[in-house]
Amino acid sequence: MEIPFHKPYITDEEITGVVNAIRSGWLTMGPRTIEFENRFAGYVESEHAVSMNSCTACLHLALRAIGLREGDEVIVPAMTFTATSEVISYFNARPVFADVETGTSNIDLNRLERHFTEKTKAIIPVHFGGQPCDMDEILDMARAHGAHVIEDAAHALPAWYRYRKVGSLGDITCFSFYATKTLCTGEGGMAVTDNGQWAEAMRVLRLHGISRDAWKRYAKNGTWRYEVIAAGCKYNMTDVQAALGLAQLAKLEWMWQARREIADRYDEAFGGMEELITPFVKPDRQSAWHLYSLKLNLETLQIGRDRFIDELSKRGIGASVHFIPLYRHPYYRNKYGCGLHEYPASEWVFGRIISLPIYPGMMEEEVSGVIEVVTHLARKFKR
Ligand SMILES: *Cc1c(COP(=O)(O)O)cnc(C)c1O
Repeated sequence: MEIPFHKPYITDEEITGVVNAIRSGWLTMGPRTIEFENRFAGYVESEHAVSMNSCTACLHLALRAIGLREGDEVIVPAMTFTATSEVISYFNARPVFADVETGTSNIDLNRLERHFTEKTKAIIPVHFGGQPCDMDEILDMARAHGAHVIEDAAHALPAWYRYRKVGSLGDITCFSFYATKTLCTGEGGMAVTDNGQWAEAMRVLRLHGISRDAWKRYAKNGTWRYEVIAAGCKYNMTDVQAALGLAQLAKLEWMWQARREIADRYDEAFGGMEELITPFVKPDRQSAWHLYSLKLNLETLQIGRDRFIDELSKRGIGASVHFIPLYRHPYYRNKYGCGLHEYPASEWVFGRIISLPIYPGMMEEEVSGVIEVVTHLARKFKR
């Protein structure tokens, strides 16, 4: 049995939508992109949604919107993808890594306060695997220090925190529509905010800094006149991507239910095994279940995480690791000289985590297959 780590869930609706977009003759940003933004804003209960060609682009322009400057500091969790942090480097500002909780892999409130300084301009919490961070406390702490909260919600669509949707919580929230994410357009992202000025700034900056609605200049009633008001970027989404996004958005909650059922099956199967530690979700929130991040109880096993993944792979099961902590990568290590001992929880988590396949369209037999193999390996290599 071959079970890939991920397969996007694409059906006739996406294909028809994309074909119609191409047939319309309008291939770049246009009416479908605007409709996708409007529907998306409505879905996550935010005032404004600004689409871009990636979540990384959204994070970059969110930081430009809040006015990040050279020499500023931005707090990010150590346990994240480099995108969360690299955008800070674009400004010659400094990413400050915070340790995470061992249970959720989210930023640890108890170790957060110490990282705020006079220079802290923002914090970028990452909703690891789709589980929202402790947003009320993070927002309070950030406000007390005059810092903004930009959420990296690349995993968290849809997700709920105290009955509110992720997208309606922080100052600016950035989603990813990368091929493996819970809503995919191949590449793509969306920044949402209730702040009209920030939304407007991001809209202008995503398309060369050209004054608003410049994309309309090729439409029938458009005009050739435009004004450049900033040094912007080429970050806009296209109508072909938006067509995929619209079809995916229509079945977002169904896809979420499908992932949740798989998570429940894994929890049930692995919950009672002492060799394995199932993901911990706090009671006042709902995860998007972008990832099912299982941990190995190394003290009861003869093999480590790397070998466990090799054994899974030998048996046809795709697995992955989210994430290699940022301070372990040469770029950050060389630039900021951060040591492993500063992040005991991230190190603990990193040595144990395995992301298992979890996606709508995974067959019943495939879920059972993963359970069977993981259980078998845990028993076989029991200490
Ligand atoms: C995927 C991912 C991103 C980047 O998303 P792109 O759309 O590929 O730019 C950012 N942060 C995290 C945590 C991610 O997993």
